Amino acid sequence: MSGKRIVLTSDRTMMSSYHGGVLLGFAATMPRSVMPDRIFHWLFCPPVPADPDGSARFAPCGMRKVEASLLEAGFSEEEVMVAHPDHLDRAIGPDTEVVGITHDDPLGKIALREIEEIINRGIPHNRYRFLELINHPRIRRYRPRIVVGGNGAWELKGEEVGVDHIFLGEGENEFPRICRAISSGEELPRVIQGSAVSGGDIPVNRGASIAGLVEIGRGCWRGCAFCSPTMRSLRHRPLERILQDARLNLDAGSRDVLLHSEDVFTYGSQGLRPAPDKVLKLFEEVKRLKPATIDVSHLSLATVHQNMDLLRQVSRVVGIGSDQQYMSAWIGIETGSCRILEMHMPRKALPKTTANWPEMVRDCYALFDEQRWLPVASLVLGLPGEEEEDVASTIDLVESLKGYTGLILPLFFSPMSETRLGAVRGFGRQQALPEHWELVGLCMEYNLRHLKTLHRLYRERMTASPAVHLALKVVNLAADRVLHRYLNRMKQGQPPN
Ligand code: SF4
Repeated sequence: MSGKRIVLTSDRTMMSSYHGGVLLGFAATMPRSVMPDRIFHWLFCPPVPADPDGSARFAPCGMRKVEASLLEAGFSEEEVMVAHPDHLDRAIGPDTEVVGITHDDPLGKIALREIEEIINRGIPHNRYRFLELINHPRIRRYRPRIVVGGNGAWELKGEEVGVDHIFLGEGENEFPRICRAISSGEELPRVIQGSAVSGGDIPVNRGASIAGLVEIGRGCWRGCAFCSPTMRSLRHRPLERILQDARLNLDAGSRDVLLHSEDVFTYGSQGLRPAPDKVLKLFEEVKRLKPATIDVSHLSLATVHQNMDLLRQVSRVVGIGSDQQYMSAWIGIETGSCRILEMHMPRKALPKTTANWPEMVRDCYALFDEQRWLPVASLVLGLPGEEEEDVASTIDLVESLKGYTGLILPLFFSPMSETRLGAVRGFGRQQALPEHWELVGLCMEYNLRHLKTLHRLYRERMTASPAVHLALKVVNLAADRVLHRYLNRMKQGQPPN
C-alpha cells in the first residue's frame, strides 16, 4: 500500500455523526476516566460509516471544503483522500506527503479547565484521541508532514506534541499551495495563516458533511475583542452553491440540513441591515429539497431582536409544529453586564445600545419560547476587568431565563493570542470569585432541569437505537445525581471541591 499523497482526516471524536444529535459531541470534553472507551463511543461518538477503500462517507464540513479546494487547485482524486480514522492503514503509506487534520478542540482546552476544575478526573477523550491519531503507527513509520487546521488549531501554539504546522484561519486559498511547497521540500513556518476567501469562491463540497451541515457564509462584523480576527469580514455564498451542498448531503443519506454561518439571519446582507427577503428565500429553497428537519447553527440575538417577525416567518416556512417539532440555534449571551459588553463587545447589541442587552436577551428568549426554538447559549466567565457586580448581573439575567427551555454553557475565558485582547491571562479556579461558582452552579441547575425535555425533543433528529436512548436516559440520571452534589456547593458560592 503506497498511500495517498494528501490524507485529510481527524480523530474519532470529530469523525462521528453523534447519532444525529450534534450536542452529544460535547461529551468528548468529558474525562476519559469517567466511562470505558467502548461505551463512550457507542453512546456518544459512534464512527461515521467508511467506504470499502477506507474513506469516510461523512466528514466535517471544513475538511470537505479543503478537499474541494485541493481538487479545484489541480490535485487529482487519486492523490487526495478524506480518510476514516479507523482505516488509516489504507490511506497512509510511503507516498503520503501531508496528513491534514481538522479539529475543533484537539487538546481539550475549550471546556477542559471547567470540567477538570469541577470534577478533577484527568484528560478528556478529545485530547487523548487527537494524540493517539498523530502517533498512529503509519504516521510514525512514514513521517508525512502533519498540518493541523480548524477552529481549535490555535490550541497547539506553544505545545510540542509532534505537529509540524499549525494552520490558522481559512484553508481554501493557501492549503493547496502549502501541500505543493511540502512536496518540493520548501521550508515553511510552523504557524501558517490562511486568508479570507470571498463568498463566491467558497467551493462546493465533493463529499457529504457531518450533521447535514451546509455553509451559507463566513464572518461577523460585530468584532468582539475575544473573537478570532479571521472572522471579521462578512461574506455569503450564492444560493445555488448552498443548495448544491445541501443536495449532495441529502443524496448521500443525510436526513437533516443544518445551515451554518456566524449569524444565519444576516444572509445576503452587509450585516447591520438584514435582508429578510433573501433569508426567507434561502429557507424556502432548502425546504423544497424536503429534508426531515432544518436547523441553524448560530444566530446573533441582536439580529433576531431587530426583526422578530423574520424568525416567525422562518418558523412558518420550516413548518415548526407540523413538519418538525422545534428548531435550535447557538447564541452568544456572553454576559449580563452592560459594562462588560461595552468594554469588550461594543457592537454586540447594535442597532440597539449595550444598555439594552439584558432586556434584549429576555425578549429573544420569550420569542424562542413562543416559536418553539431551543437556544443553546454561551456565557464567557472571567473576561478582563470583570468584577463581582458584573457576575451578579449575569446571575440575575440567567435567573430570569429559568422558565425557558434551552442550555446555557458557562465557558472560562481562554485568550487566543491573535485576538485584540492579545496575551492577557486566561481565567481559572484561582481567579474565580464566589459569584462565578454561583453562576456555574446556576447554569448546571438550569441545564439539568431542561435535559429531559431536550432529550425528548432531540429524538426527532437522532438515529440512535432504543438501547442507546435508554442508556442515555440512565447517564442523564447518573449525571443529575453526581452534578447536584457539586452544584449545591457552587450555588452557595463555594468551589465544587
Ligand atoms: S458576535 Fe460572535 S461571531 Fe460575532 S464577533 Fe462577537 S463573538 Fe465573534
